[in-house]
Amino acid sequence: MYPKLFIPGPTHVRKEILEAQTVPMIGHRAPEYSKLQLEVTPKLQQLLYTQQRVYLYASSSTGVMEGSVRQASTGKPILFTVCGAFSQRWYEIGLQNGIPSEKVEVPLGQGITPELVDEALSKGDYDAITLTMNETATGVMSPVKEIAALVRQKYPDVLILVDAVSCMAGVKIEFDAWGLDVCFAGVQKCFALPPGLTVCAVSDRARERAKQVKYPGHYFAYAQMDKRYDKGQTPATPAISIIQALNKQMDDILAEGLENRWQRHQEMASIVQDWARKYFALFADERFLSPTVTNITNTRGISVEGLNQELRKRGAIISNGYGDLKEKCFRIAHMGDLTVEDIRWLLEQMNDILGLQ
Ligand SMILES: *Cc1c(COP(=O)(O)O)cnc(C)c1O
Repeated sequence: MYPKLFIPGPTHVRKEILEAQTVPMIGHRAPEYSKLQLEVTPKLQQLLYTQQRVYLYASSSTGVMEGSVRQASTGKPILFTVCGAFSQRWYEIGLQNGIPSEKVEVPLGQGITPELVDEALSKGDYDAITLTMNETATGVMSPVKEIAALVRQKYPDVLILVDAVSCMAGVKIEFDAWGLDVCFAGVQKCFALPPGLTVCAVSDRARERAKQVKYPGHYFAYAQMDKRYDKGQTPATPAISIIQALNKQMDDILAEGLENRWQRHQEMASIVQDWARKYFALFADERFLSPTVTNITNTRGISVEGLNQELRKRGAIISNGYGDLKEKCFRIAHMGDLTVEDIRWLLEQMNDILGLQ
């Protein structure tokens, strides 16, 4: 038996969604494909509360992390905010692409604040700032709405690039109202789909900026995507089967109701957080607790790997701590299509295995 995934990606995919991938293959220049893309795009715009463009990339999120910074810098530096392994990866991508990259970093478990961003941006002349909304490695959510409000008000020319990989479709992100410029997520996390596709909203302002970039790259270039956007096509071959599943999943997400979906994530998070406070400790600062993944400090010195082996026998797996936090922490993802019942069941199993009462 395959264990149910309580890990922060890929997450559990419902059978109906897996089956939605099995419709017969279609050509990506055929009308059937255009219809599909033109059908799914407005649903994604609804999810992100935006009237601006939403692209579909046949890539995992890391590709779009690269594409977004390549298209944001006209020669001025990008400020990377770092609060864990995934935000650090983005900074390294900047360096590896020869982009003038500067970082401002907080200790693990802390989030990025408007004050920190204000102080950092006031010291230089930046083209863009990166924000990792939900740092999956530490279970930290940073207040992107408040940070974006500050940036839009005091630094109007700084583009706001947001990695929402492990929270998009799990929490509310108002792309237009918050004034974001790029916001992306691979669909194997809160969308609860098979991996291989990244959804990316891009503002008109960011598309204009990209036109001034000397080497914007090719595969992720907004200008390339725009050539066929209105037709409902992508320049290269899209991940057609995953998009079929996405189309079905978006119907289900909208049928659940966006507010209900955000609330379900918050409810699952609260249950896990209460459990963690009772038996272990929360790794993240209470002010920044993630609604989609909880990082728990292993205060009891249990073998996380041993726990996972036992859980596997009962049909579930969780995640060990990320990188240096391995065995020092463990993570429970409560995202996507998991339910409050799933979470309660998981915690019961863990109590039973660990002898907790
Ligand atoms: C998972 C994750 C990524 C990387 O996603 P890939 O799909 O593996 O490329 C980037 N950022 C965050 C916050 C993530 O959780």
